[in-house]
Amino acid sequence: MADQPVSELTTTQANQEATQLREQLDSWRKEYYVQDAPTVEDHTYDMHYQRLLDLEAAFPEIVTPDSPTQQVGDVTLPGFSKVTHTVPMLSMGDVFSIEELAEFDARTKQNLGQDELEYNCELKIDGLAISLVYENGKFVQGSTRGDGNIGEDITANLKTIKSIPMTLTEPLSIEVRGECYMPKASFAKLNERQEAEGKTPFANPRNAAAGSLRQLDRKVTADRNLDTFIYYTSSFEALGASTQSEALQRYQELGFTINPHSRVCHNMDEIKAYIDEYTGQRESLSYGIDGIVIKVNPVSQQDELGNTVKVPRWEIAYKFPPDEQQTVVRDIEWTV
Ligand code: NAD
Repeated sequence: MADQPVSELTTTQANQEATQLREQLDSWRKEYYVQDAPTVEDHTYDMHYQRLLDLEAAFPEIVTPDSPTQQVGDVTLPGFSKVTHTVPMLSMGDVFSIEELAEFDARTKQNLGQDELEYNCELKIDGLAISLVYENGKFVQGSTRGDGNIGEDITANLKTIKSIPMTLTEPLSIEVRGECYMPKASFAKLNERQEAEGKTPFANPRNAAAGSLRQLDRKVTADRNLDTFIYYTSSFEALGASTQSEALQRYQELGFTINPHSRVCHNMDEIKAYIDEYTGQRESLSYGIDGIVIKVNPVSQQDELGNTVKVPRWEIAYKFPPDEQQTVVRDIEWTV
């Protein structure tokens, strides 16, 4: 990847580099989202994506509507009915250092005109986003994120996952979202079996979960031991919660599984302590995490901040440095 400072480039040079970056990122996205078989580490993808963001920020005239920076990545596979999300399922901005996180904190306070903010910190589960729709407390439809507006109908597959309640404890009509993931032990077993059967092993638990959920035969999904954590609703009023931390409690009351490790933090010191704690505990968790999500806690402030075309302004992912134990088939050095 080119390392010349963006400020030293002409518009023509920036445009040329951005075009090459988009081509490379599109190719990696196809491997990751369509084939569930990435050939580079997420960190490599993230660094190239970041460079494209920097180029487009410095030269706004070179942004194209089909740039990966302007679109949620997933695609919908043929064979599944399509579901239109009533509220788009967005991606998430990310940072790679505490300094960048402090910039997010300062920017968010400035946007809200506040000196202090409350955040809910959560583990960033390495799976794929799902949407679950309930009518009068009954599970009626489940889907993938897809391109953010249109996802795949995977209702039958989701019905095989034990942690997804078919009936809520209250007769609510509500859409909730969360992460579907494959626990590390199930991933190890699945790959052993893949190898024994002469099939290609999955690159990581995220891709294994995505491949297992998007199966036309629900028996395959049922056999893969997937699990879920719920963390969002597009219907806060129906839920009756005014903060993210309250919402998590409500999901649990309704019968969903929530991740038990979230914490309300009031300043950067508390956030940093949370990040340090879970960076240390990462290996001992029974599921993969690839970072920490920091969310503005009051829903009214989330609404005030709103979204960009691709990401909410009220949350950010702090991504862990590359995991040396992660197994990806090969890592490519890419230069412009
Ligand atoms: P993302 O995975 O970085 O972050 C957004 C997602 O985080 C949400 O959609 C949700 O599914 C998930 N999430 C997990 N825990 C959460 C929590 N507690 N609260 C809220 N959301 C939570 O973004 P993305 O757009 O889904 O994917 C982009 C990422 O995928 C890249 O940053 C890169 O790491 C990876 N990627 C890798 C390759 C590759 O070739 N290796 C290619 C494309 C994308």
